Amino acid sequence: MVHINNTAISNWLDSICNPLLISGPCSAESREQLLGTASSLVETGLVSAFRAGIWKPRTRLHSFEGHGEKALSWMKEVKEKTGLPVAVEVAHPGHVELCLKYDIDIIWIGARSVANPFSIQELAEALTGTSIPVMIKNPVNPDLQLWIGALERINRAGTDKLAAIHRGFNTWGKNQYRNTPLWEIPIELKRLFPKLPVICDPSHICGNRAMIEKVAQYALDLNMDGLMIESHINPEKALSDKNQQITPTKLKKIIAKLQIRKAESFIKETTDTLEELRKKIDVADYKILEALAERMNVVKNIGYLKKDNKITILQIKRWNNIIHNRKETGLKLGLDKEFLSELLNLIHKEAITVQKKLMNNNE
Ligand code: PEP
Ligand code: MN
Repeated sequence: MVHINNTAISNWLDSICNPLLISGPCSAESREQLLGTASSLVETGLVSAFRAGIWKPRTRLHSFEGHGEKALSWMKEVKEKTGLPVAVEVAHPGHVELCLKYDIDIIWIGARSVANPFSIQELAEALTGTSIPVMIKNPVNPDLQLWIGALERINRAGTDKLAAIHRGFNTWGKNQYRNTPLWEIPIELKRLFPKLPVICDPSHICGNRAMIEKVAQYALDLNMDGLMIESHINPEKALSDKNQQITPTKLKKIIAKLQIRKAESFIKETTDTLEELRKKIDVADYKILEALAERMNVVKNIGYLKKDNKITILQIKRWNNIIHNRKETGLKLGLDKEFLSELLNLIHKEAITVQKKLMNNNE
């Protein structure tokens, strides 16, 4: 198995800025839109690189699919006029070739392409022998291995200027996000590859303007290495992702409000308190695990009783009561409603699994 070579991933992002802010429109719609957006972004003094989609992977037919090669020449002009490095999404080898031809500084691979190892392999081959930095978005489906696999393939092709972009995942059911963040996935990626820069894309996570600040702050609190935020000179007129794009002025306001907290190695004066609190967490976790184990034992005993009396595993009425009652208690204790739902469902799922196992075993 090929692994991402941690030591080979140079801190190329630091050479641009830290934390990094990449901004620009979802799509390159016209020369004027690109130059207008880019010059306003430069005026904010906050942006380290300019992004725009040239080829747009769209869910439905008849949506704006990008201007292709023509827009690459606009990107080149943006770069010459503003001095900002420019970033573009690529989805197949022809795109890579054109980006190199037009001196694009950074390329990224979109969530839909990352979900397909065939596309990634083709891109890896096209990238062999080049030194262009590559950012890899998480795949649309919540599969860390698929994300790592894409990073590995591109890394094996010789690319060591790599970054991952967390843009959220397609999950079942509706929630407040366009793409559910599932923060545990990028956190695990960071744990496995500590030197790999991980950038958060709040725009595609939120799908709306209102939540961008909150998600961006959360990403910074998790020590993400930068942000990619979509910005459009006139968001109301945007041809793609209209609801989530913000003006450069709004971007400036959001960034000004964000708190950049220091990584823990820098918080010397609070280390002791941190240690104390961590000990408390250890004790609390132990209590939670003990309580869970105790609950599962009772679940087993109930399972035997149900088995002996030929009663079904799932008793909807009882379960509804539990949900209602536990939620009420949890809310009173200050726990979050969504968190409680997820936790209770997980516990219930495990209880059913435990009982199913013992019903089907001749224990
Ligand atoms: C984009 O960055 O505009 C885009 C298409 O993103 P994703 O691949 O995350 O959907
Ligand atoms: Mn977009």
